[in-house]
Amino acid sequence: MGLHDPDICACCGRHAVGIGFDRPTRWLCAECLPLIEYVKDIRRWDPYEVKALDAVDDATGEFAASIAKTDIAEFTDEERRGLWRCAIKAHQAEIRRLVRTDEAMW
Ligand SMILES: [Zn+2]
Repeated sequence: MGLHDPDICACCGRHAVGIGFDRPTRWLCAECLPLIEYVKDIRRWDPYEVKALDAVDDATGEFAASIAKTDIAEFTDEERRGLWRCAIKAHQAEIRRLVRTDEAMW
């Protein structure tokens, strides 16, 4: 992996930074790097990704409440982008939390 051969983080899907493990190599982003001891043993990500949607639901609901709008058609372009950013960050953060706590498997 290099600047012209980017890869995604095996944990959260962000841009990876060049720290890898396993064969074939799986890469991690800077925020997931501290989780390498947990991530290396995970083969099935579906439970983490599906469970993390609960956090996305909560975070985007709070975002919509913060701008007092519930109809996405009424969002400005900036608000809609904020919603997507909120959803993506909530999903990534919750996957990291689930990896740390192993709650996705229970
Ligand atoms: Zn990551």
